[in-house]
Amino acid sequence: MLGLMQDQPLLISNLIDFAERHHADVEIVSRRVEGDIHRYTYKDAAGRARQVANALDAMGLQFSDRVATLAWNGYRHFELYYGVSGSGRVLHTINPRLHPDLIAWIANHAEDQVLCFDMSFLPLVQAVHSKCSTIRHYVALCDADKMPPDTGIPGLISYEAWIGRQANTYQWPVFDENSASSMCYTSGTTGNPKAALYSHRSTTLHAYAAALPDVMSLSARDAVLPVVPMFHVNAWGIPYSAPLTGTKLVFPGPAMDGKSIYELLEAEKVTYAAGVPTVWQMLLGHMKPAGLKFSTLKRTVIGGSACPPAMIAAFNDDYGVEVLHAWGMTEMSPLGTLCTLKNKHQDLPEADQMKIRLKQGRSIFGVDMKIVDPDGNDLPWDGKTFGDLHVKGPWVVRAYFKGEGGDPLINGWFPTGDVATIDPDGYMQITDRSKDVIKSGGEWISSIDVENIAVAHPAVAMAACIGVAHPKWDERPIIAVVKKPGAELSREELLKFYEGKTAKWQIPDDVVFVDAIPIGATGKMLKTRLREQLKDYKLP
Ligand code: AMP
Repeated sequence: MLGLMQDQPLLISNLIDFAERHHADVEIVSRRVEGDIHRYTYKDAAGRARQVANALDAMGLQFSDRVATLAWNGYRHFELYYGVSGSGRVLHTINPRLHPDLIAWIANHAEDQVLCFDMSFLPLVQAVHSKCSTIRHYVALCDADKMPPDTGIPGLISYEAWIGRQANTYQWPVFDENSASSMCYTSGTTGNPKAALYSHRSTTLHAYAAALPDVMSLSARDAVLPVVPMFHVNAWGIPYSAPLTGTKLVFPGPAMDGKSIYELLEAEKVTYAAGVPTVWQMLLGHMKPAGLKFSTLKRTVIGGSACPPAMIAAFNDDYGVEVLHAWGMTEMSPLGTLCTLKNKHQDLPEADQMKIRLKQGRSIFGVDMKIVDPDGNDLPWDGKTFGDLHVKGPWVVRAYFKGEGGDPLINGWFPTGDVATIDPDGYMQITDRSKDVIKSGGEWISSIDVENIAVAHPAVAMAACIGVAHPKWDERPIIAVVKKPGAELSREELLKFYEGKTAKWQIPDDVVFVDAIPIGATGKMLKTRLREQLKDYKLP
């Protein structure tokens, strides 16, 4: 016997319709590429998203055709999120920090038909457009009068001229909720990039889940500032969860420096922010010397790479901001776990709470996880045993776009490539990327643990731990360190700093001072490149 509830597909257009109807006057504030602040409402955004849909119809774009973006977080990008997916096309957000050749490669692989780009990326588009064989239309995300003459890009039109001639009425089509809605290529370090192809169903379910109190806890009383880019896994789903909850959206545009972010947080009374640790490092680096405080910020989600304990402590102790450590990946839309305490933890001493907060957190309903040994056997959830982390759920990939890389699943589970422990309460902690773990004398050393201690030293700005070959122990850890500007620190001082904070054999064998640690396109440390840079390095 089937239930007798209405069969309504979960479609992305429902989210913006809902926001327009129930949160019409809630603001969306954006810092524009032009540098000024733009301000309008969900009602305005919904009308303009419908203009986008009409403009795509006028171009003759078919269902499932791909529309690419090279854009910062801003209101026009937000309109494309809805106008493109809502009308049945697929939004392909491209990471502008990728190498231009790679951008052309993925645009061709995705068979993008339209490319919409912020004016900051004009030189990039000028460099790659002749290599993008499928793109038929180029749209510059700017006013008509901001269009530079003679760009050399065929048929380039300004976004405002493009949508300006369209009506803001449009009947969103109703179709199978499993239809593709958007796509994002993984920034894999080996082989060609592969695309996760999200669906309306997976995106809507993820948007519901992300808004839950023990996940991102977004509400109609919040103002959220996603520093995490809309070109990388849909800004962790915030552009979908915010309309669902009626949360005010504040978009930082291209200005990701500490000063600009701080000013926007304060001016727009932001209560909630989300980003990778490197961004928050810049923010705290700006605030501390100037003695600045937050007046409204309450929570920040930090993920994408391990959040150092020193950062959680700084936010909490110095600024009264709760850090929610999160873990996920492109293949997971991206949220998998988020770290919030349970009722039984409320009265624990702060130091014990901190031990929990450092973990990547508990599974969100919708994501099943397990840790397994190399033969695929389940490992215990004792908080000590670590193994390969596998996941499954309705917003986890089952295959990559065009079947790239073959079947990624193992017995129906997606192997994340992360190594983790899970404790009896279900809190998962990432030890390492499987290719970053260091094996020393048959024992594993977590590079994240080694880095966390280094960045707790006041003279250290950034640290990356890698393994180097050792004749006796197979591998030993060394730590590459970037000092804070003007700070003094010797190798011996830092190694001494490790004493008492970790087991002796886990202390790195050497410290290598470097000017910078290579950062990849998604703001994470690129250890593959660091290893290349240090390939002639010899242990002392
Ligand atoms: P991406 O698909 O580019 O978002 O990268 C996903 C990968 O980032 C994961 O598989 C992890 O290795 C890493 N990652 C994401 N969040 C965290 C976190 N909170 N702690 C440690 N690693 C993380």
